Amino acid sequence: MGLIVQKFGGTSVGDIGRIKNAAGRVMDEKKKGNDVVVVVSAMGKTTDGLVGLAYQAASKPSKRELDMILTTGEQITISLLTMALQDSGYDAVSMTGWQAGIETESIHGNARITNINTDKIKDNLSESRIVVVAGFQGLAGNGEITTLGRGGSDTTAVALAAALKAERCDIYTDVDGVYTSDPRYVKNARKLASVAYDEMLELANLGAGVLHPRAVEFAKNYGVPLSVRSSMEKLDGTIIEEEVSMETGLIVRGVAFEEEIIRMTVFGLRNEITSLSSIFSTLAKHHINVDIIIQSKTETESINLSFSIKREDLEDAIEVLQNNRKELGFTTIEHESGLSKVSIVGSGMISNPGVAAQMFEVLADHDIPIKMVSTSEIKVSVVVDESQMLKAAEVLHTEFNLDKAEQPQKVSVK
Ligand code: ASP
Ligand code: MG
Repeated sequence: MGLIVQKFGGTSVGDIGRIKNAAGRVMDEKKKGNDVVVVVSAMGKTTDGLVGLAYQAASKPSKRELDMILTTGEQITISLLTMALQDSGYDAVSMTGWQAGIETESIHGNARITNINTDKIKDNLSESRIVVVAGFQGLAGNGEITTLGRGGSDTTAVALAAALKAERCDIYTDVDGVYTSDPRYVKNARKLASVAYDEMLELANLGAGVLHPRAVEFAKNYGVPLSVRSSMEKLDGTIIEEEVSMETGLIVRGVAFEEEIIRMTVFGLRNEITSLSSIFSTLAKHHINVDIIIQSKTETESINLSFSIKREDLEDAIEVLQNNRKELGFTTIEHESGLSKVSIVGSGMISNPGVAAQMFEVLADHDIPIKMVSTSEIKVSVVVDESQMLKAAEVLHTEFNLDKAEQPQKVSVK
């Protein structure tokens, strides 16, 4: 017997039937003798719909009013789920983020949780009541209602699990776990029994939409055991934890990919000690996220610099660079679109050299040119042509034995 935090995403509470189904999963946990705190998202595509309304009312709705309208979505779900639980004879109560004591920074649209005052939740749990909390929202110190960024209900759930020292946080969703790659595109993608926090963090940041990156960060920092599982089918999901057994011998645990990458190249940049910092701080000031950076020879008088950005930042990046060309000290810029990023992730890379070499070799064997590379301790990413993205993902998935978990994996260093 312990405390379990359950979270149901938008699809899992998309209509009344699904809300009743979610209520069933809550009751199952309660019947086992556990205390249960439930966090829910807005129903189906409600949040998108509310954003759409806001942009009909104003061309640039203020962030405060956006938070005001968006937080209504989750409020509908908490009341309906609570009613369904009560209808089945269970004692339950719904709470908005602020009623649940979720305190955030005073920022609209993307606030971080700063503290959770759990008194009210604990009072209700001590009365054996199920507590249903609205995800994605909180209250800033200045009394303003805030939201945590799109997908933020995951973070509410993990933060509550940490604050309440829950035994587990179960994320119920429309997929049945974390996969070795996106099963919609990579045949033989397999569900993983477990993934390490760091691996999940890389995968989430690389666009595996199954978990909000900030939620994974929270789970790692507070050691919250996390699971991702299907709300519709009663199957084992994927466990995300600190130490993942290497018994399967998988050095690479996932292949992620992302389209719409742009390579920008800055030519003739003055070779000065501050040149790089000026360029990237100028881009950062304009909220342009730079990923991979490649710099040409530094002994020459001027340098060429390439970096990758997302498609949505292209126009801004060009404008910002052109407007500051003199001060930044370069001659021209060019960009290449139609690119994508393919990454392999696995904590086994730390202790197994040669993984990147093997990746490059396989891509070369399949005539897939690599345009850029970046690595971390547990990740290697390459930028390739968009037309070759899926093929690259497929061959890497096979090469690193991700389609057959049982076989220990050998890395060949030639
Ligand atoms: N409803 C919010 C969104 O769609 C938060 C969430 O579902 O996590 O982004
Ligand atoms: Mg989500």
